[in-house]
Amino acid sequence: MRIDLHTHSRCSDGTLSPAELVALAADRAVQILALTDHDTMAGCAEAQAACDRHGIQFVPGIELTCEWRGREIHVVGLGVQPGHTLLAATCDDLARRRVARLQAIGERLARHGLDGAGLARDALAECATPTRMHLARQMVRRGMVASVGAAFDRWLGHGKPGAVRSEWPPLQATVDCIVSAGGVAVLAHAHRYALSPGVLRELCAQFKELGGAGLEVSLAGTGPGDAHRLAALARRFALAGSVGSDFHEPGIPWRPLGRFVKLPEGVMPLLELLPRRMA
Ligand code: MN
Ligand code: MN
Ligand code: MN
Repeated sequence: MRIDLHTHSRCSDGTLSPAELVALAADRAVQILALTDHDTMAGCAEAQAACDRHGIQFVPGIELTCEWRGREIHVVGLGVQPGHTLLAATCDDLARRRVARLQAIGERLARHGLDGAGLARDALAECATPTRMHLARQMVRRGMVASVGAAFDRWLGHGKPGAVRSEWPPLQATVDCIVSAGGVAVLAHAHRYALSPGVLRELCAQFKELGGAGLEVSLAGTGPGDAHRLAALARRFALAGSVGSDFHEPGIPWRPLGRFVKLPEGVMPLLELLPRRMA
């Protein structure tokens, strides 16, 4: 079965509209698709309608940014109710933090002689829940850098002139929010946090204790070593294994939409935790 439980649309830092994303998923014969934009569910109604047209089972989702021991961690919520009050308030709060961060980055860039205010304004015009990716794309559009990667390397990345440390809600509140919105909390791309094996185990243990139910195990772009470690963590902490591409845009070959990846032996498929609701 082709499933993809981690994707982005233009409602966050993806480049396709939700309907375009669903059309691409249909081309790739995806049968179950979750839209998990950063800190917003703005695209879910459009994606749901498009999935209904294409006969794809849609899973309303979100990828929430939070903090654990001073580090930025991402938690995917699957099967969450789009209009849930606490979740909507959380999204509003995160959008405010993101807008403030964007403006702070703009101010820093202005100190280096760039049109930081203009960049921030144009990035915000594109997305109400802006990410640094939106700023990077504006820099490319204006010919200030050759690529999005160069924008991070020169201006936006850690330790660069436009780096602004932002504060995110704690992991506990994030898991609580997803669970209270009827969803399943999944720890996203754990291999990308640059944590030591011991600290990563502590994160997984605490995530489970707080009510987390899943771990992304079969991801596009993981090497065999990472895949093996993620599977071992899922088994050890009895977390169900999720499958997703973290797709953002066509043309990034290491994050292909709907890539079929079989879950390793002994890992419970996360799909079994989601309510059955065929389109
Ligand atoms: Mn992203
Ligand atoms: Mn992420
Ligand atoms: Mn993502």
